[in-house]
Amino acid sequence: MTDPRPRGRFAPSPTGPLHLGSLVAAVGSWLFARRAGAEWIVRMEDLDGPRVVPGAADEILRALERYGLTWDGEVAVQSRRTVFYEEALAQLRAAGHAYDCGCTRAEVARAAGAPDAADPVDAAGAVYAGTCRAGLPAGRAPRAVRFRVPEGIVAFGDRVHGRIEEDVARAVGDFVVKRADGPFAYQLAVVVDDAAQGVTEVVRGGDLLSSTARQIALQRALGLATPSYAHLPLVLGADGKKLGKRDGALPIETLDERRVAESLALALRLLGQEVAGEAPGEMLAAAARSFGVTRVPTGPLRVAADGGIVSGA
Ligand code: GLU
Repeated sequence: MTDPRPRGRFAPSPTGPLHLGSLVAAVGSWLFARRAGAEWIVRMEDLDGPRVVPGAADEILRALERYGLTWDGEVAVQSRRTVFYEEALAQLRAAGHAYDCGCTRAEVARAAGAPDAADPVDAAGAVYAGTCRAGLPAGRAPRAVRFRVPEGIVAFGDRVHGRIEEDVARAVGDFVVKRADGPFAYQLAVVVDDAAQGVTEVVRGGDLLSSTARQIALQRALGLATPSYAHLPLVLGADGKKLGKRDGALPIETLDERRVAESLALALRLLGQEVAGEAPGEMLAAAARSFGVTRVPTGPLRVAADGGIVSGA
């Protein structure tokens, strides 16, 4: 039997200390959950081995504690859960929803007509042409495993952005669920874990809005429930570019009381919420009481040099 209690989550990748963008995701998901009397759990998404920074997971957890972002239960760690991803993959394969792909990244890009197949930027956005859909071409060895995306539009209601529609087959094509270098892909792991952990509301950074239709397609293929979704405003650097590793990093050793309160106040303002109280715990409790979903901006947002918030890229 599934637990009927609503549950939100924060799922950071331990690739560095908490930064302003991940703090906004943590505070936003905490507020959505606590305001609704829901549980809030934390999951470390550490499947992308080469990007994982030793010690970062602990540092993120200590930072959450300093901010007063208390979580429920044990922290789940994806690298200890691969057996569940294996099971899901076997289920997809058995139903014909997944297949081996022998293409290299450059071949995928070339088949998609990317301007420069050797350029990782062009190659990354390439829609898979379906080369191995009907079986591996003769002489090719399996590399990645792909999800066979069904035809049609996936539509969902985002609590911040409203109705979103995506034709996943056209926009992305059959996407990778197990990578050529071994790890399970984020898209599969996140769907399996959100379902296994009874997550009923997914509240996360706006950069993942474009992943949601893929995740819903996977949920349907696996017979899993779809949680509600809310995507928070993407926070860009002062130059309007995506926050890099160092921008807005909030390393725990530099987090004195004053810095913690300041960054928390900034995160609340980025979420369109009122700031009241002095200590982090007080500020969060006040924000949970006065929280209004309709005030959450769609973004993207930039923090100007004078601390003001500017809307737009
Ligand atoms: N691990 C992802 C990240 O840090 C977030 C995944 C999610 O919230 O679905 O960007």
